[in-house]
Amino acid sequence: MRLNLFWKLGFAFFALLIAVLLPVDFYAERALRRDYERNGFEELAAIARIALAHPPQLINCSYTASREFACIETWVAQMAASGVRVTVIASNGQVLADSQSDPSTMENHAGRPEIRDAFAKGDGQSIRHSVTIKSDLLYYAVRLSPAGAPPVVLRFALPLQTVDRAIWEFRRRLWLASLVMLLVTGTASLLISRSFSDRVDRLTKFSLRVAEGDFRPIEADRSGDTLDSLAVSLNQTAAQLDGTIRALTEERNLSSAILASMVEGVAVVNSSERLLFSNEGFAEILDLDMPPQSGKALVEVVRQTELIEAVRGVLKGEPRVETEIVTGTLRQHFFAVTVASVRAAETSGAVIVLHDITELRKLERVRRDFVANVSHELRTPLTAIQGFAETLLAGAIDDPQNRLHFLEIILEHSRRLARLTEDLLMLSKMDADRLELEIRRLGVSQFVESCIETTQRPAAEKDLRISVNLQQPLPDIAADRRRIAEVLQNLLDNAMQYTPSGGQIMISASANGTEVIFTVSDTGIGIPRADQSRIFERFYRVDVARSREVGGTGLGLSIAKHLVEVHGGRIWVESEVGQGSQFHFTVPIFDPERAAVRPAR
Ligand code: ADP
Repeated sequence: MRLNLFWKLGFAFFALLIAVLLPVDFYAERALRRDYERNGFEELAAIARIALAHPPQLINCSYTASREFACIETWVAQMAASGVRVTVIASNGQVLADSQSDPSTMENHAGRPEIRDAFAKGDGQSIRHSVTIKSDLLYYAVRLSPAGAPPVVLRFALPLQTVDRAIWEFRRRLWLASLVMLLVTGTASLLISRSFSDRVDRLTKFSLRVAEGDFRPIEADRSGDTLDSLAVSLNQTAAQLDGTIRALTEERNLSSAILASMVEGVAVVNSSERLLFSNEGFAEILDLDMPPQSGKALVEVVRQTELIEAVRGVLKGEPRVETEIVTGTLRQHFFAVTVASVRAAETSGAVIVLHDITELRKLERVRRDFVANVSHELRTPLTAIQGFAETLLAGAIDDPQNRLHFLEIILEHSRRLARLTEDLLMLSKMDADRLELEIRRLGVSQFVESCIETTQRPAAEKDLRISVNLQQPLPDIAADRRRIAEVLQNLLDNAMQYTPSGGQIMISASANGTEVIFTVSDTGIGIPRADQSRIFERFYRVDVARSREVGGTGLGLSIAKHLVEVHGGRIWVESEVGQGSQFHFTVPIFDPERAAVRPAR
């Protein structure tokens, strides 16, 4: 690159020099030659004027045997002293005398142009090669017409060799000067090209560095020329690129982080139904082993036809399609699918969002079941009350044997209705979070005793033995006395209801450091394993007919569970069919420090 630039610049300088030199040489030679010839002719004309003023003696010129015109020859010799060649030619062209040759050996000069002109017009000039002295000459001739003698021509000639010498001298100097100039400019071009290519090299390296992502600025050389301003503008471009790339990277990282942390499944497909992107949630929801690779066909990844159909709908032009899919076979999960069209600069496709609505569906089912259950629960006592009331009205009121029995049935069912309404009210309070708790310090044995008091009589009636077994000493608990008593009462009621006569019921309590564990055990009918996890659900009963028979609503345990949990405790059951059941629940130990900061709900 450096050598290249150097040679290019050097060649340019050289070509420029030659381009200037050649015409200079050409025109200078022509000018010099013309100037010399003009000067030559002027010199010859001046000599001619002198010659005319002192013409040779042509009349009475003595004739010698060896020298034809001695007097002319003398004159010629005198004139030739000025350094020019002098020739005298007669009107017939015969050379009478010549300063450099023997006239007798010279040919007839009548045809020479300057001679012809001189005889015709008085003077004539020409530049020719002289055959006689074998060199180029400037010729100038004048006619001399002496009185009483035929005219002759006096011709003066100057050799051209001196012109050629002068021109060659000029040329030598010109070319020498040019050579020196070439050397100087060559060195200058070397230096300039070296510094220039150094700077261009630095800029090239800088742009390569920028292409690789290194945006550190290049040092400006402050020479103030175009390369310098190029470096400054490249620096600005690099800084802008750096800023833009940083902003884009940050934005991309942020979006990736958002998409990755989303529980919703998000995926993007292109117009040919191939996945461009999917987040972890998407793979998790569709139960894929790993996130699908970009470019994979959607049908290879997704089995749910509703989802594929929705995507196709959007790709065909619909702006948005919503549907629902179900995943899992044993534990079903429901997902709302929203597919919307996306259009980027050149690509178009669809974005899929999967949102878990399992909880919502479950709640909807629970609400539906709840309404159905409540209606069902209300219908039985209401039908009974209505039926017996109608029977009484229809005349049974006058039947002293049965009317009391009928009225008792009506009373029993209305009590049941009242219990049901009370439980429902309680549930609605709990659901609306309007249950107010008055958490106080509560002594366990005192609290258990008071609960048993109310149970003693019905237990004795059913021939059930109630015993209490409290670990000693027991710490006090933090609880709302009325609510926690409801829990224990409910468990005792159930134990009495589901334990046949002669059975035993035991209440025990122990502490584990942070909480007191209460246990109500009975020797009753027990609960099948499959039902154990469900008896805390609303309206769930193991044996519906039996529950109704003993006046149960199916809500007692669900209320108990809720009450225990709002106290910060747990409730669970252990049971064996035919052996009996143990219901356990925990209540936190009273902590004076926490009590001071914990506001009563
Ligand atoms: P219910 O008003 O029907 O007693 P619960 O919510 O109190 O409603 O109890 C739910 C179901 O759990 C009962 O219907 C019964 O089948 C079962 N169950 C509760 N306690 C016992 C127990 N001590 N022994 C046997 N089964 C029980």
